[in-house]
Amino acid sequence: MLLKDPKGMLFSTEFLLTIILFILIIGIVANLIDKSDEKILNSIKTNNLESFSSKVADNLISSPGSPENWEKLSSFNNVIPGLSIQNENKETIINTISFKKINALKSNYNTLISENIFNKEIKSSIAIYPLNWKINPIIIGDEINNKESSNIFTVNRTVKCDFLSELIILSLSNENNQNNNLCNHNPINNLSHVNTSEYKWICNEFKIKKGDIEYNDYYLILDDESAKINGYWILDNTKKVSNIEIPANTIKTDLNSYFKENLENNNELIFYLHCKIPSNNKFNCVLVAIPKKMEVEDLNFAYFTFQTCNFVLKTSY
Ligand SMILES: [Zn+2]
Repeated sequence: MLLKDPKGMLFSTEFLLTIILFILIIGIVANLIDKSDEKILNSIKTNNLESFSSKVADNLISSPGSPENWEKLSSFNNVIPGLSIQNENKETIINTISFKKINALKSNYNTLISENIFNKEIKSSIAIYPLNWKINPIIIGDEINNKESSNIFTVNRTVKCDFLSELIILSLSNENNQNNNLCNHNPINNLSHVNTSEYKWICNEFKIKKGDIEYNDYYLILDDESAKINGYWILDNTKKVSNIEIPANTIKTDLNSYFKENLENNNELIFYLHCKIPSNNKFNCVLVAIPKKMEVEDLNFAYFTFQTCNFVLKTSY
């Protein structure tokens, strides 16, 4: 039939072409709509994650989390994590992070952050980079690889971290007048310190219980400059007074055997640390108790002061 009617065939070919074209156009348009939908959806997701990530970072550094002292709990399912430090009056200090809370987060990141905050939908990591190079950075959470993930958001905040400040038993410094200067050396035991134009003494007392030495390692830690000024220290106690001046030229002195020996026949004792400091020099030292289960590399004075750090939260789909 078609062969006999060339006009009709032409018409049919045109008609067929039109239909094909029409289908093609519909296909292209549909595809375009689909793609733009996907783009809009992606950008909504992206914008949400970006603003959500910065909210999460701000909450972490400006709230202590709940319940209170959540880091001491054994189960973290109902914890809303926050990392801020609270002062003695339970007031939150914003833009701070507590080292012990960071440690709790490190051991339970999956529950506390991936599940409780990101509902298992988002990959994330938290890094703390101290400006002081003497303290090692801390990086916890998921591995976020720039090559594998396309949408990575990085939130950067400046914070202060207390690191190991909580583990200080006694701090002696001649940079402020806050030392109580309690001392067991006196004219009666014939051991009075004499301040001269060359040397000044600062002293103070502290208590250690026999039971504590099983769980802690004790160190006297000097800041770098204080170990270079030719000062001296004496460590003694109410039961056994000493006048042996030890050169203060070591940044870290292990005191475990001293405390073990002196607490052998006592349940607790008052100890005295006396420091003899060359005049016109700054001197700072701390006596610290580090829990035996805690692993700290390169223990130094910087760990016992508040340090400015970059707090970096990374998130990705
Ligand atoms: Zn003294």
